[in-house]
Amino acid sequence: MIMEQLQQIDHYVMQWFNELKYSLPTMLKKMDLQTKTSRFDLVTNVDKAIEQSFEQLMITKFPGHQLYGEEAHHDTQRLREGFTWVLDPIDGTANLVKQQDDFCVILALFYNSEPVLSYIYDYPRQKLFQAVKGKGVYLNGVHLPSPPTMPLEDSLISFNNKVLNDVTMHDLLDASFGYRLIGACGLDSAKVFTGQFGVHIHTNAKPWDIGAQFLFAEMLGLKMTDFHEQPIDFIYGGPFIISNPGCYEETLRILLQKGGYQK
Ligand code: NAP
Ligand code: CA
Ligand code: CA
Repeated sequence: MIMEQLQQIDHYVMQWFNELKYSLPTMLKKMDLQTKTSRFDLVTNVDKAIEQSFEQLMITKFPGHQLYGEEAHHDTQRLREGFTWVLDPIDGTANLVKQQDDFCVILALFYNSEPVLSYIYDYPRQKLFQAVKGKGVYLNGVHLPSPPTMPLEDSLISFNNKVLNDVTMHDLLDASFGYRLIGACGLDSAKVFTGQFGVHIHTNAKPWDIGAQFLFAEMLGLKMTDFHEQPIDFIYGGPFIISNPGCYEETLRILLQKGGYQK
């Protein structure tokens, strides 16, 4: 695959995000809520419509590419070969439903299992994070530098407090500067891209929660692994940490020392 081809694909995707910016307000006005496996497992017609809209773009502009999307595209058979898109059409659906705020679209393209394009679109704040392999990382078109290396004691840390045991949670709170959780894995991760957070942990990330983070982490010099410092398989997801390099080892040591989390 050549750079020109990648830039052409990026161009169409940026156009799609721009169109989404104008179509989303109407979609949100007609939002209709459904539950999936429990009263906390929410999905809306907006999640489904965004996934369908991206599928349409893919069929017309990128025939031969495959889609691995949260709402309707779960076939994993051939995802490691050729071009595979991983999409979370709305990350932070609970936030969308309860607050009409703090939700995003997470989108990533893999070529032969390597991440080559990534996007996190924070619609409420109109922030589009974009990473193009071999070219650069951008926020709304402006180059985004790597964050400075920060120790855990000076950093904000983010995790879902329902899934850590109390001792581990308090050890992490004591070791860090403070705690914040947005409640959308893409947006909590993007805070690590910019250095606003030192760490985000998700103990049971689905592939679409973290598809875009691989390339951002690689290009910004961040750590992104499971809790045993091993790479994460983009098809399966699983325990996930994205971290500033200055916070990574201490966070993992605390997380593991008292057996402190559930999936
Ligand atoms: P939430 O506000 O619904 O979601 C927070 C983030 O977690 C979003 O990125 C969301 O993606 C994702 N998420 C939602 N349901 C999930 C699930 N069952 N497993 C893994 N990730 C999920 O979170 P919440 O209201 O605090 O919790 C909802 C459920 O998710 C609970 O069962 C909670 O334990 C679990 N959860 C687990 C973790 C973890 O670290 N293990 C983190 C968050 C949530 P979407 O908006 O695309 O669904
Ligand atoms: Ca998600
Ligand atoms: Ca989702």
